[in-house]
Amino acid sequence: MAQAPIVLIMGPPGAGKGTQAGHLVDSYGLRHVATGDLLRAAVADGTPLGLEAKRFMDAGDLVPDDVIIGLIRDLVAELPDDAGVLLDGFPRTDAQAVALDETLMELGRSIDAVLDIAVPSDVLVERLSGRWICRTCQTPYNVNTHPPKVAGVCDKDGGELYQRTDDQADSVRHRLEVYAAQTAPVAEYYRTRGTLVPIDGNQPADVVRAALDAAMQPVAT
Ligand code: AMP
Repeated sequence: MAQAPIVLIMGPPGAGKGTQAGHLVDSYGLRHVATGDLLRAAVADGTPLGLEAKRFMDAGDLVPDDVIIGLIRDLVAELPDDAGVLLDGFPRTDAQAVALDETLMELGRSIDAVLDIAVPSDVLVERLSGRWICRTCQTPYNVNTHPPKVAGVCDKDGGELYQRTDDQADSVRHRLEVYAAQTAPVAEYYRTRGTLVPIDGNQPADVVRAALDAAMQPVAT
């Protein structure tokens, strides 16, 4: 096994990918490379990439492959070879998966494990459409499973809670449809290559975390 593993984390919106990615980065010293973060930064900076990506992101649609594949090539060229990497948020289509593999291959590298967190869609809709966030400190609550003590008010600092536009039920359903149609097939791509590790995400976060730790064992040593 290569000393500096390349690990990919996949899962639909609401699968707990953000929380678990944080754990993997902290526990295994992985460099976190997330296309969503890069795109949000590009939008905030008003770069040509950001201007092009914004309308797709606002609609909950995927940014077109030709834009993302260019971004993936740049990212791969800059991957450290002396530190492990966690790829997050890409590839999201088969074409991106092929481009990623080809670009890695040119550098003599490959993906060591694909951690695929699965959660039934009715649970995802409930999780995401119940999510409210503090405007001040960004603490997330869930009105169904983890409500604040006083409705609409943050327990920590009394800040107002709000719901992200793309967490409202219609947007959530659209994001899940996009995932099912375009990104779920990517798991199949990796299954046929023997790198897919299915993870049951419909369990408490600490149980999911333990499953990810088990999956990391052969990779991280
Ligand atoms: P994320 O934070 O990963 O959920 O990404 C936020 C948004 O950025 C997505 O809803 C897409 O519009 C866009 N995005 C991020 N990564 C990709 C990708 N690999 N391919 C296409 N669009 C992407």
